[in-house]
Amino acid sequence: MTETREELKEKLAEMIRILAAGEILTLMKGHLSYRLPGTGEILILGHTHRSGKTLAGTTGADIVTIDLDGNLLDGSIHPPGEKFIHTCIYRKREDVGAVIHAHPHASMAFAVAGVQIIPVHHEAIALTPCVEILDYAGQIDTEETGMMVAEALKDRAALLLRGHGNVVVGSDPEEACCNAFELELNAKIQFQASLLGTPKAITREVIEKAPKPGQKPHRSASPWPYYRERYGRNGRQ
Ligand SMILES: [Zn+2]
Repeated sequence: MTETREELKEKLAEMIRILAAGEILTLMKGHLSYRLPGTGEILILGHTHRSGKTLAGTTGADIVTIDLDGNLLDGSIHPPGEKFIHTCIYRKREDVGAVIHAHPHASMAFAVAGVQIIPVHHEAIALTPCVEILDYAGQIDTEETGMMVAEALKDRAALLLRGHGNVVVGSDPEEACCNAFELELNAKIQFQASLLGTPKAITREVIEKAPKPGQKPHRSASPWPYYRERYGRNGRQ
């Protein structure tokens, strides 16, 4: 991204509106963040739901800047209490450029049941070899619990938080958003397949071609234009 800070905030706001329209971010909660490349600065959705504002109306003014310790650098609202999910992952993972924390329903069902998500959908190679569950159902609102999440994520793209939601990362916001949509789609397919039989993960051959951390998935093209087209009109103001 080569945009100005204000343009980046507007871009992230649009992504948040799209994630809300696509039911990845639900009940006015959840957040997306972006690490400005080469800096210790993080753009993150502020604590907007405290004032009753819905994510469908997110604007650039709702995005604030924090440092890697969670201190507010600019913006008129507080960062979310769960900012430690973001700061701790960025400190541990240099390959991560964007983080999403969300509570979408299908992922939640797996997190509640204690069943790992496996990559059953052919586009879900970012989820290899599986999405593990952190057995901690509380808020991630301290440095200590944030580091617990970062450790549990390992070098993977996603993690479930028991009874709470998920954490999804990418090298940039677009990739993180696509991974978040893919995780939820894969969860829905895995759940439906489990009613019919035993879901099988995509083949070892596909898994072995999966990208290393920081590499782009082997997709023919990013599916982001699809999500933007499908959900953008609802999400756009
Ligand atoms: Zn949460």
